[in-house]
Amino acid sequence: MSYKVVLLPGDGIGLEVTNAAVRVMKTVAESFNFELEFKTELIGGCSYDKYQSPLTDETLQSCYDSDAVFLGAVGGTKWESLQHNLKPEAALLKLRKALGLYTNIRPAKIYNALIDSSTLKKEVLQGTDFVVLRELTGGIYFGNPRGFDNERGWNTMEYSKEEVERIARMAFKLARGRRKKVTSVDKANVLEVSQFWRNIVHEVHKDFPDVELNDMYVDNTAMQIVRNPKQFDVILTSNLFGDILSDIAGMITGSLGMLPSASIGSKYSLYEPVHGSAPDIAGTGKANPLAAISSAAMMFNYSFQMQKAAEVIESAIERTLAKGFRTADIFSDGCKLVSTEKMTDAVIENFNEIFHEQALGVFTL
Ligand code: NAD
Repeated sequence: MSYKVVLLPGDGIGLEVTNAAVRVMKTVAESFNFELEFKTELIGGCSYDKYQSPLTDETLQSCYDSDAVFLGAVGGTKWESLQHNLKPEAALLKLRKALGLYTNIRPAKIYNALIDSSTLKKEVLQGTDFVVLRELTGGIYFGNPRGFDNERGWNTMEYSKEEVERIARMAFKLARGRRKKVTSVDKANVLEVSQFWRNIVHEVHKDFPDVELNDMYVDNTAMQIVRNPKQFDVILTSNLFGDILSDIAGMITGSLGMLPSASIGSKYSLYEPVHGSAPDIAGTGKANPLAAISSAAMMFNYSFQMQKAAEVIESAIERTLAKGFRTADIFSDGCKLVSTEKMTDAVIENFNEIFHEQALGVFTL
């Protein structure tokens, strides 16, 4: 078995965390006995410097030819004054659109070793493990008409049946592999587009009778995520609501350096840490690689259906944290302060340890 992975390290710490993730991916491939073929391309500021474009047709073509795309991060002060369509960040929107990545998945999972660094109480947080599925290529961010004049501003929130159906189907399928519960989030008490969303989600639900479905208004959901996050398994929602809820969900569980993501379409998928290129720490060895490593776990899970590999990576991260390894962003007294590279070494060592324990049948976290 062999998979082609296109690497887009990008700018700043994007390079450092992509290196870390690749080291873990190679370890997984060796242990589980399959091949990974890597191709590295430029994106963002570094691509602009070389080609005067943040995303070239060649890079896009490599992505079209891949089984999965892994992205570090783009951007930096050097490129801030460029015109909008030449900025590094413009490459991300273009890439997501070109690859038809209509679903963004962000997990909100608590690592026990970091539970005390959350802003929420331990009792509220313990056992939290849900994902937010955000529709990524439709809704109010793309709807027409849009604009403003001196007197008023306007945008359009619109969804087609096909757009709602395909993400609803993905949510129910995902829930089947988890705790079999989907919460569809809308504002159907005020918005017609939400009433339509709700009708379609219920229609699709008829094909998944083994999965529980409940509807929740977006304002109540924001409150429930901080009140009782354990109640959720899969949250399914539109672009605008998902933008806000996935940030709330991410931040209750830890630092920016810990948050992975997957963006998935019908043909292509892209995995990236949520954080940016962090120019303030780029090149210092301070970047936390765990968000990128966890994004690699999502790649094994969603693109290659290797749930076991993803689980061992996640357990290795959990054990590394339990042993007290911390990069500066998650450091607390009594822990071992380590660099990006040392943190990655520790995750790999723990991955190998867990892999062998599982083979011998003696695995405990
Ligand atoms: P950022 O996420 O880069 O950094 C915010 C803060 O978090 C900084 O203090 C940084 O040091 C810290 N941080 C981020 N990731 C970290 C990690 N892995 N380990 C340790 N600390 C980490 O956001 P920003 O400063 O607002 O943006 C910097 C640049 O990144 C901008 O050009 C922005 O447009 C771009 N950006 C890119 C993406 C992306 O590529 N997906 C996302 C967000 C921002």
